[in-house]
Amino acid sequence: RRGANDCMPAEAGGEEFWAHLTTARRIASLSAALQLAMTDNRILSTVDELTRCGSRRFFEHEFPREVERAVRLHRSLSILMCDIDHFKAVNDSHGHEIGDQVLREFAARLTHGLRLGEDWVARVGGEEFAVVLPEVAIPKALLVARRLCERIGLTPCPTSAGPLRVTGSFGISGFSPYRGDKDVSPRSLVRAADIALYESKRSGRNRVTVA
Ligand code: GH3
Ligand code: MG
Ligand code: MG
Repeated sequence: RRGANDCMPAEAGGEEFWAHLTTARRIASLSAALQLAMTDNRILSTVDELTRCGSRRFFEHEFPREVERAVRLHRSLSILMCDIDHFKAVNDSHGHEIGDQVLREFAARLTHGLRLGEDWVARVGGEEFAVVLPEVAIPKALLVARRLCERIGLTPCPTSAGPLRVTGSFGISGFSPYRGDKDVSPRSLVRAADIALYESKRSGRNRVTVA
């Protein structure tokens, strides 16, 4: 099935047969190992190693598909862009390893409470995440984002340097066929959510802004 029989001449016999068979086996097992490595690699590149949520690459592949689906099926779609507030200060005061612990906890808090198998989270930058809410229009997305924002700021993150309070800023944008939205692109949605996120930062952080 892997084509290794190609190196076995039909007339081969005796020792020559066994030599060819060894080569054929080696080709087959190399090919199997390569196949496994490729599958592993594909999984690795879609999952962010530190936080176990989607990777930036996964986001770039999957978000345009979500948008295309929403437009085609006339369904709403919202995206929350979220960035940890003053995260550099965590690294500066406690070190990179503690920063990583905070990142993991932050991602877990974002993911927890979302609809399993429908909403998804990707780490799109160092301490920046995208939360994608299919079939959710902006008013509901606002409630979700407020809940996440509150929950993140409410209890300090447990770290090996002790509990640390962190907050996040959010920007929301979305597509709704009921609003008559037509010209929508993944890029324009991300851009609008980013601008809203920037507004959350500018106006004091630890808050949610709708595009
Ligand atoms: P702001 O509230 O404006 O977002 O301030 P900030 O300090 O969070 O933003 P800034 O962009 O200045 O700093 C982001 C920091 O995130 C800097 C970088 O070292 C850190 N960072 C990025 N990726 C990682 C990572 O994987 N682990 C750790 N520990 N830190 C990271
Ligand atoms: Mg930040
Ligand atoms: Mg940032």
